[in-house]
Amino acid sequence: MRLKNCSRTGRIVSFTLAHKVVCAGGECLCTNGEHKSRAHNPKTGDVGIRTVSRLIASSVFLVKGEEREVPAAAGKLPEVAAMLGRGDLRAV
Ligand SMILES: [Zn+2]
Repeated sequence: MRLKNCSRTGRIVSFTLAHKVVCAGGECLCTNGEHKSRAHNPKTGDVGIRTVSRLIASSVFLVKGEEREVPAAAGKLPEVAAMLGRGDLRAV
């Protein structure tokens, strides 16, 4: 689907392409990020850095009048549905 920012106040529209909603059953659009945290190893007593990989969902930013092609499932996101309802976003 193609969405256009039709906000009358000139507000920037932004939303996150939540993995559970947008990637479900389709192509995953998230980036694989790494999160580093300090971790205590109970066996050795050492404190080290533990790297955990996790998915970082993509986000969409639209300035006034801008349009962008987004996955059809984005229409199921509550924030997108609300902005479509308010007229801040329009499917074009
Ligand atoms: Zn994903």
